[in-house]
Amino acid sequence: MKTDILVLGAGIVGVSAALHLQDRGRSVVLADRGEPGGGTSYGNAGLIERSSVIPYSFPRQIGPLLRYALNNAADVRYDPAYLLRIAPWLARYWWHSSPANLEKATRALLPLVEASVSEHDRLIERAGAAHLIREKGWISFYKNPRRYAAARADAESLSPFGLSMRVLDSQDFLALEPAFADRAHGIAGGVHWLDPKTVTDPLALTRAYMDLFLRGGGKFLTADASGLREEKSGWSLQSGTGDIVEAGEIVVALGPQSGRIFRKVGYSIPLAIKRGYHRHYGQVDGPPLTHSVVDEEAGYVLAPMARGVRLTTGIEFAAPDAPANMIQLRRDEDYARQLFPLGEPVEQTPWLGLRPCLPDMRPVIGPAPRHRGLWFNFGHAHHGLTLGPASGRLLAEQMCGAPTFADPIPFHPHRFL
Ligand SMILES: Cc1cc2nc3c(=O)[nH]c(=O)nc-3n(C[C@H](O)[C@H](O)[C@H](O)COP(=O)(O)OP(=O)(O)OC[C@H]3O[C@@H](n4cnc5c(N)ncnc54)[C@H](O)[C@@H]3O)c2cc1C
Repeated sequence: MKTDILVLGAGIVGVSAALHLQDRGRSVVLADRGEPGGGTSYGNAGLIERSSVIPYSFPRQIGPLLRYALNNAADVRYDPAYLLRIAPWLARYWWHSSPANLEKATRALLPLVEASVSEHDRLIERAGAAHLIREKGWISFYKNPRRYAAARADAESLSPFGLSMRVLDSQDFLALEPAFADRAHGIAGGVHWLDPKTVTDPLALTRAYMDLFLRGGGKFLTADASGLREEKSGWSLQSGTGDIVEAGEIVVALGPQSGRIFRKVGYSIPLAIKRGYHRHYGQVDGPPLTHSVVDEEAGYVLAPMARGVRLTTGIEFAAPDAPANMIQLRRDEDYARQLFPLGEPVEQTPWLGLRPCLPDMRPVIGPAPRHRGLWFNFGHAHHGLTLGPASGRLLAEQMCGAPTFADPIPFHPHRFL
């Protein structure tokens, strides 16, 4: 099989890039060793996070640092041995989180965040996936009145970004989510972010985009990207069944596993991972949850999804292949049960996923400096579902030599090499 472009990785990032390339007249094959959408894109909290204009930075104030030092917080937990292993990466993350550097990252990402909903909307309409989308925004809530007051001030400080939001007192919150009523004494108030959309089944969304790609003449190949070979005229990859695809250009969109290829061809890019879990639950009583809600102090999300109420956790720093550790999920579940009538778990084993993260909080989107026809599109961290279609567009515009809708330079791999 010969193709113009081979995209490695059929998560939300790879599938979105493949669609944008196809739309620009290129023949594209997508390859994945597993089911399309079955990686990190399977298990996220489903927020198309238009309101997240400031990336998640490393805390620099003494209060949060002391709190995390005890390692008993729910929003971030870590394996101390692993923290030592990734200390150089953490130091870079800390450095990029200075106010000036954070502003730089915010400015670079803003065009992509601003385009996130409209780029999804185009694909949702063409893919016939509107039934997977809720147009109600999401709600952050606070239990501690001081944290609530600070959050209100923070939300108002974002007014230059033109976000639509509504500050909620506890009664407003209950009017939107009455299922919390019996336990509402614990909630001081919240903020309703109105621009974002939410997805009721992230796997189904990636598959709907994948089907759109296949309907447009795209091909899917089940293959392990580790077998990629550099040829005189481009690249080749052999599938498990012996089919060989030859491509002039290649896109690495393997999410947290992208290092498998960029290291193989000689690049050293500081891609690390932040782990996260999810589990679905029933709801014991009360009106059903209708918005995705975020307990900002404990760092978990409760999202009404196809399989039940999906609880997703905050960050766990532990080796990518270390066994799952239930501590964080149990802490979150305990916190959630104090406020919401969470029922029994739907599945026996919680899902564990890996967020692919760069220390400067920006994905890598652009050409590999020392190889013609090798392109990168990975490292979308906490916002890969949000940014997949916008980053696919930015990549495709560069690959096709078209004017780009955002400055691509802050995303180029050159910054690390
Ligand atoms: C708990 C949690 C909650 C999150 N919540 C949100 C949210 O609400 N909103 C948001 O925007 N983002 C969220 N994220 C982040 C988001 O899910 C990720 O940024 C995004 O899914 C990354 O997509 P990807 O396509 O780069 O990676 P993946 O989805 O992991 O896709 C990579 C693909 O590469 C394939 N692959 C890997 N190795 C090989 C190989 N050797 N050969 C062939 N194929 C291979 C995998 O099978 C996979 O299909 C969350 C993440 C977590 C963990």
